Amino acid sequence: MTLDTPRRPRILSGMRPTGKLHLGNLVGALQNWVKLQDVYDSFHFVADWHMLTTGYDNTRSLRQDTWEMVADWLACGLDPNKATFFIQSRLPEHAELHLLFSMITPLGWLERVPTYKEQLENIKDHDINTYGFLGYPLLQAADILIYKANAVPVGEDQVPHVELTREVARRFNLIYGQLERIAGARCASGSQKSGAGEPEPSIEQKAEYLNKGLAQLRPIFPEPEALLTSSPRLPGTDGRKMSKSYGNAVFLTDAPAVVSKKLATMVTDPARKRRTDPGNPDVCPVFDLHKIFSSAETLDRVNRECRTAEIGCVDCKKLAAGHLNAFLAPIQERRKPYEQNPRKVWDVLEEGTAKARTVAQATMAEVRAAVRLA
Ligand code: SF4
Repeated sequence: MTLDTPRRPRILSGMRPTGKLHLGNLVGALQNWVKLQDVYDSFHFVADWHMLTTGYDNTRSLRQDTWEMVADWLACGLDPNKATFFIQSRLPEHAELHLLFSMITPLGWLERVPTYKEQLENIKDHDINTYGFLGYPLLQAADILIYKANAVPVGEDQVPHVELTREVARRFNLIYGQLERIAGARCASGSQKSGAGEPEPSIEQKAEYLNKGLAQLRPIFPEPEALLTSSPRLPGTDGRKMSKSYGNAVFLTDAPAVVSKKLATMVTDPARKRRTDPGNPDVCPVFDLHKIFSSAETLDRVNRECRTAEIGCVDCKKLAAGHLNAFLAPIQERRKPYEQNPRKVWDVLEEGTAKARTVAQATMAEVRAAVRLA
């Protein structure tokens, strides 16, 4: 396909390279990516610069973490023949667009992003009161817009980031997009159409022409939609949201014995103290795992027998571990060829990065011309 031929709507999504992925990553993002790759022109990237916005002081394992994460992507069914995988930091075009966006983005837009304040309050183990951390949603905007993505698969908490991206695209288009007078309308033409002696209209004037229908704008960037991903609740072994940093995660690469051991220590319905006490699966994190990974028969059985104390938590957890291990087996099988030949993962990334570069460079040529950089 050339750059000019019609393409499927494009999505873009990235992940910080945190190493081996866990069930939360699978259920929260990867399963959705796998479905979307058949519908969208999918671009997925290793967000290593984003990793630096909070983890700038610990980069020792960045390369290995990148490999482990992408090996998990491939093991879960992401297909390099359908989607494009690349490494953000191999494409300086992202940084250039980020820089240009930083020139036009009011500081207040970044300060009001909800995750900014939240993380400033929550991350106490090192200083993230930095320029890079404040600007990371703008880097995300550059990541998305450089591929002219039509949609961004996100969870609820990331919607404000997509909204910021839309605002940045709108502002950039207004400042640098070509404004064309509508036939018969009396107004000055826009930046690209101005005659040599004709003054450039201000941003406010341009907005007024557009609002009054006197001119139309040829935008440089589309305004991407948030493609909301609803994912089921997936608790970790301590009942909190599964997260590597909480130490409560079951990894996609965990051997069956490790999975069984982790589930054996998992918290259950706190009111069920003795084997003879009836339990309530609706408040039990183990039951949440059953809902996602067990068969309908097992789910039905646990739902009934827990409430009557016919089944104990030890046996219930063994059932959960059995189903989970059966679910993970094909994923671990698909990962083996990459483990045996690690180069294969880098090859996929090299190829994807080259493809992404073509798109990013084409966008930046357009952007530089619009900004009138030499
Ligand atoms: S039997 Fe299963 S669902 Fe019921 S409380 Fe125990 S672990 Fe939870």
